[in-house]
Amino acid sequence: MRKFELNKLVRPNVDGLKPYSSARDEYKSVGEEMVFLDANENPFPSDVNRYPDPQQRNLKAELGKIKGIAAENILLGNGSDEVLDLLFRAFCEPGIENIITLPPTYGMYSVLAGINNIENREVLLSRDFQPQVQQILEIVDKNTKMIFLCSPNNPTGNSFSEESVTEILKNFDGLVVIDEAYIDFSEKASWLKKLKNYPNLVITQTLSKAYGLAGIRLGILYASVEIISILNRIKPPYNVNQLTQERALEELKDREKVNMQVADILKERAKLNKALKGIELVKEIYDSDANFILVKVDDANRRYEQLLEKGIVVRNRSSQPLCENTLRSTVGTKSENEKLLEALKAIQ
Ligand SMILES: *Cc1c(COP(=O)(O)O)cnc(C)c1O
Repeated sequence: MRKFELNKLVRPNVDGLKPYSSARDEYKSVGEEMVFLDANENPFPSDVNRYPDPQQRNLKAELGKIKGIAAENILLGNGSDEVLDLLFRAFCEPGIENIITLPPTYGMYSVLAGINNIENREVLLSRDFQPQVQQILEIVDKNTKMIFLCSPNNPTGNSFSEESVTEILKNFDGLVVIDEAYIDFSEKASWLKKLKNYPNLVITQTLSKAYGLAGIRLGILYASVEIISILNRIKPPYNVNQLTQERALEELKDREKVNMQVADILKERAKLNKALKGIELVKEIYDSDANFILVKVDDANRRYEQLLEKGIVVRNRSSQPLCENTLRSTVGTKSENEKLLEALKAIQ
């Protein structure tokens, strides 16, 4: 294991910051029956006239219980987008430092690198969509702060092998960010259980996919207490609004519903996978650990347009490296999937 020194990783200006202390940071510990004249809110009660809890304590307690992790190892944000952006802002010096991503992968890493003026060094996945560990480690220099691993990966759907992820974790002394947005659809174990073993490990998850809550925007980041405390210094105090906190808590308590929906989606994924094999224009179907399937077709641009004409919107991923002539389709409801299959048969 390489030596990991968090104080050398954090941007010097961030290291010196104290978190903004909001009015609402203080009151929770004082108790009920208080008169709140501290935050210039409108005093007339509604569900949302007060500022939300900046540390989202109730929500973190529930999440921690479900995931078997301490609340102090959790940071919540306005979608994964925000927690990923906070990582850039805390650890990467604009115009100087760099990150590594592994295309074909989720587009937001490179968008966020661009916004933050951080160089994005790309190392393609191998033909079977696995990280090329030696190439990745060779491209690392003293300014490389983070490596983004998306597993299960979007848009390919596969998970990265445990050996390659472990090798990266052990041989890179910056942060290794594993994006587990699709982990609930996978049989493979989450890296959460290994959080304690690797001080440089950061894991992100989201309520946008399996939990069916894309509209409320709740992203989750898990890391060491030290990393979380750095991110807390720069996060906007009220980044997760009251309605989101309440709705997320409500849904997290209904585990049965999520489990049943995920089971249904997995059943539909298997059916879709099988049915796609019988369609002539489909040339290859990639195994998926996520709630979508990537397929190679004869002519993706043409098939994409034809599906659109039939009112079906999939994602054309052909411009991504290693993804020539591929379409990515979400696993929908039974009837949505049947419509997709019917359309694919009709345009043969
Ligand atoms: C959908 C997706 C997310 C979710 O982002 P949110 O901002 O939380 O909605 C994150 N990572 C990947 C790879 C995704 O595909």
